[in-house]
Amino acid sequence: MTEKIKLAGITDSSSIDYPGKISAVVYLCGCPFRCPWCQNPELVLEEGYRLAEIDEIINELKNNFLIDAVCITGGEPLAQKETIELLRRIKSETKLLLKIDHNCFFPDMLEKALPYLDHLTTDIKAPLDERYGKVTGLPGSWEKIVANVKKSHEILACWPGKKEARTTVVPGLIDKDDEIREIAKVVHGVGFDSYVIQQFRPDKTLEERFERVKSPSVERMRELGKIAKKELPDTDVRIVTTDGGFETVG
Ligand code: SF4
Repeated sequence: MTEKIKLAGITDSSSIDYPGKISAVVYLCGCPFRCPWCQNPELVLEEGYRLAEIDEIINELKNNFLIDAVCITGGEPLAQKETIELLRRIKSETKLLLKIDHNCFFPDMLEKALPYLDHLTTDIKAPLDERYGKVTGLPGSWEKIVANVKKSHEILACWPGKKEARTTVVPGLIDKDDEIREIAKVVHGVGFDSYVIQQFRPDKTLEERFERVKSPSVERMRELGKIAKKELPDTDVRIVTTDGGFETVG
């Protein structure tokens, strides 16, 4: 009997979750944040998961002959301490490239995870001040959140693996020129290899009122991409929208 982990599901093959590779995607439950615009509410609220043995996940990955990589996502994958064992076993028992999507709230867990990773994607949801609390739905906890995010950024700045930062543009929360400019400066300071600005989609959100918020237009996303690129001339900057897909900002 191996350790068990809260598993929401596994996608056998994806072409968009690991850059340039076909990957499996493992969805884990739980998240310390409550971003009101979150598009994975069932993972955050831990609805509909099952406790799966790590052995079972490893066997499923070993028997998947379509993939070169695996992406561990959530929710927040490092919210469960068992995730470290899952990462360790993937790295030691398979030849798969390994990536996690992480929100930088758990610097101690991040330090334990990094030795097993080839790639990491993290959100930088807002400039590093009280706005971080508003965007994550925890305004009273912004100081602790920002302190943890900064500590995680210090760790990532010294890590040689591939790292990507992402910001979701949410009208009324994070959508101003100055906000993207400030975040881009943080991206530069940490030394991320790439920065992706993604369009909020009102499909299904943690707080219902965000289902009535309109997505920012493709034109507005391109404007914000240019603002970020000015701060990041040597970084791969992209925008992602429903209509245009991924666009590199030149
Ligand atoms: S968007 Fe926010 S609440 Fe949703 S999974 Fe990501 S960090 Fe958690």
